[in-house]
Amino acid sequence: MPVPTTVAEAMAEAMAATRAVGGPGATLVGVIGSPIAHSLSPRLHHAAFAALGLKWRSVAFAVVAGEAGAALRAMREVGVTGLSVTMPLKGEVAALVDEHTEVAGRLGVVNCVVNREGRLIGTNTDGEGFVASLIRGARFSVVGRRCLVIGAGGAARAVVLALADAGAAEVAVLNRTPSRAADVAALAGPVGRVVGEEETARDAVVAQAELVVNATPIGMAGAGEVAAGPESWPVPPELLHVGQVVADLVYAPRPTPWLAAARSAGAATVDGLGMLVHQAAAQLALWTGREAPVEAMWQAVTGAAGSDHESGAG
Ligand code: NAP
Repeated sequence: MPVPTTVAEAMAEAMAATRAVGGPGATLVGVIGSPIAHSLSPRLHHAAFAALGLKWRSVAFAVVAGEAGAALRAMREVGVTGLSVTMPLKGEVAALVDEHTEVAGRLGVVNCVVNREGRLIGTNTDGEGFVASLIRGARFSVVGRRCLVIGAGGAARAVVLALADAGAAEVAVLNRTPSRAADVAALAGPVGRVVGEEETARDAVVAQAELVVNATPIGMAGAGEVAAGPESWPVPPELLHVGQVVADLVYAPRPTPWLAAARSAGAATVDGLGMLVHQAAAQLALWTGREAPVEAMWQAVTGAAGSDHESGAG
């Protein structure tokens, strides 16, 4: 059989293979993005299907920037039930779906598409996944807490909005490019603020924060590797302390050098694997209409991240 050269061919072939095993009503979901070869999503999905007794199949489809439209057309034509969306497509997909959930509309970033009889609904589960990971990883509730988010990209947007919606008292945003921080802080409404560029302003916010989150790729291993040395850290770990929760959205390596340094400084730490698992669990629940088997999903990826898998590949 010839190797598929387009995403439409790849989806059609994956559906044919799914039906060959599961019969004409068999269900296919997947993940799109690039690079995608080492994505943990199919592993998470298959663990959930096994625990739920579903004969569903999940496939990773390589889709580069600019090709999301072709992927969504194929999704509709082939009848793919759900797609997880990872970098670099989250913004592009948001502009292409038929409808947004409220959270995806506010963020302008989609990490999950649900196919409801040909109508494609875009949503975003990153923020709720992150908040759930804090509860599981550190028994930390954000209600009434002072939070600092480092970064102003798609992941930071989702985290900032989720923290504010979950009842944080303050959500401060610190970013290498300060002009982008204002946009992101605005998502938090009255509790959002931008951290000034001066070191003293930064240090005061860090000292008072009860939650500090790295939402940049600093320290990420694998494809798209980003510098990990102390010279690249936007918040020096000596500013972190006992009584704080420090979270890193990067999950390969586990922990990142910065998160390890935060732990040495006495902070409780949460790595990005929990967010990955919980955002996937929320997507599974949307596609299947069932409660996601979170523990089975955890077991499927514990030990896998930080080895040959790419952080952020979703
Ligand atoms: P993005 O949209 O590209 O944004 C990256 C942000 O990081 C920007 O604010 C950028 O600052 C900043 N940044 C990048 N390199 C930097 C450096 N060397 N020094 C200081 N700041 C730097 O990326 P994203 O989609 O938000 O993802 C961010 C990270 O979160 C990635 O590592 C991704 O893998 C991870 N992530 C994890 C999960 C999970 O489930 N655990 C989910 C989503 C994302 P500028 O604005 O100045 O460019």
